[in-house]
Amino acid sequence: MIPSHTLKEISRIVGPAYLTTHKDQLDKHGSDGTKMAFLPDAVVFPGTSEEISQIFLLANRDRFPIIPRGAGSGMTGGALPVQAGLVLAMDRFDRILSIDTDNLIAKVETGVITAHLQERVERIGLFYPPDPASADISTIGGNVAECAGGLRGLKYGVTRDYILGLNVVLPTGEIIKTGVETVKGVAGYDLTRLIVGSEGTLAVITAVTLRLIPKPPSKKTMLAFFKDLSMAVQTVSSIISEKIMPATLEFMDHLCIRCVREEMGIDIPMNTKAILLIEVDGDQHSIEQEAKRVESITHGLGAIRFQSATNQEDVEKLWEARRNLSPSLLRLRPYKVSEDVVVPRSRLAEFISFLDLLSKKYKLPIPAFGHAGDGNIHVNIMFDKANPTETENVNHVVKAVFQKTLEMNGTITGEHGVGITKSPYLEMEISKPAMDLMIRIKKAFDPNGILNPGKIFP
Ligand SMILES: Cc1cc2nc3c(=O)[nH]c(=O)nc-3n(C[C@H](O)[C@H](O)[C@H](O)COP(=O)(O)OP(=O)(O)OC[C@H]3O[C@@H](n4cnc5c(N)ncnc54)[C@H](O)[C@@H]3O)c2cc1C
Repeated sequence: MIPSHTLKEISRIVGPAYLTTHKDQLDKHGSDGTKMAFLPDAVVFPGTSEEISQIFLLANRDRFPIIPRGAGSGMTGGALPVQAGLVLAMDRFDRILSIDTDNLIAKVETGVITAHLQERVERIGLFYPPDPASADISTIGGNVAECAGGLRGLKYGVTRDYILGLNVVLPTGEIIKTGVETVKGVAGYDLTRLIVGSEGTLAVITAVTLRLIPKPPSKKTMLAFFKDLSMAVQTVSSIISEKIMPATLEFMDHLCIRCVREEMGIDIPMNTKAILLIEVDGDQHSIEQEAKRVESITHGLGAIRFQSATNQEDVEKLWEARRNLSPSLLRLRPYKVSEDVVVPRSRLAEFISFLDLLSKKYKLPIPAFGHAGDGNIHVNIMFDKANPTETENVNHVVKAVFQKTLEMNGTITGEHGVGITKSPYLEMEISKPAMDLMIRIKKAFDPNGILNPGKIFP
């Protein structure tokens, strides 16, 4: 519990309007995309790095947790105040500071919503490729802290590939800059890379220097429907081995298709067992050529239907369905545990068949969808908390999914991070010496363990 005299000091630092202990605000800032809930002692909305620094000094003095928070869309509980403490809401860091069109660099504060940045740079012919499906709600700070991936990972990479430098406040109170504002730069250790993906456990990020690229002039979206998942997976491999690099290559399995059909009334042939959403981008001539080759590959591999952007309405609807797929799965059961494993994309079919076996063995629906191009699969284990057997079986399924993933040389999380939901399993992937080193790094940044405690490490 934060002592009341300390709350008064925090209030003096930020101004009384920016500190709250109001129950509604505590509830709102105590939950995230996992739908789990913990109550913080208070929520603060700092306006400057100096204010954050002063708050850290108090936290070290009185030993209370500080939990950085963007939009609270995280899927592994990274922003949850699991040991109560002070939620540090970055809402006021919401300015796009500069867009440098000569050097293709943007500087933004961390509370900026991802889609706002994307729209702003696209208006002047530039492109910020990282595109999590949550782009309309998530913040750049949350994306950096989680190293968010998304729909364009295959061709364009993930958040870390676009971060040149950071402005951060260390848990010990120092305000520092990491990285560079140039394309190259190797002075000292790469602290930027260390902090990207550190899930708010090493530092509070206040501003980010981002790399931009020219916006591709055109794009074309295609849909391919298959009556067999292995045909869809073979199509993914063939497209890539034909040296076509789609900006997006997403798949949905048969259970996802059922939910989407029921939820959105989309016309999908009844015998469809897998759908690929494919988007190519580039200059008009090359995308037309690539689209033709994609069409021919999908037909060659037995697609039952192929649609390109000519039927724009259905294509748009399916994109919308893809972005909202996660909640529509609740038609199958009222609760779900979502994992975001990555396996080599050539072994996607083998992995999905394994999920089918698990689904039968434990009598739980396990719809899967995701970024087929980079092998990142969102595995959704649906269950009903009112049914104790189902609730217990979820844990068996999660463990089996991770075991299989690691046997296939994959990773237990491609983009959602470890947070609290995956921390019990981290030792399955990370060796003891590597884990010990990570813990020593955490201690070097945060000797008193005040920044986002209870996350990542088992
Ligand atoms: C419908 C839906 C779709 C999604 N799709 C994708 C997807 O395609 N790809 C993907 O990668 N993720 C996806 N996500 C997950 C989530 O949106 C991302 O992890 C996102 O990056 C979280 O951003 P946020 O602003 O909501 O962060 P929060 O949830 O608020 O926080 C996430 C973590 O970042 C830390 N953090 C936040 N801001 C800061 C800061 N300024 N300094 C230091 N640490 C900070 C927090 O402490 C926490 O550990 C999806 C989520 C939803 C609900």
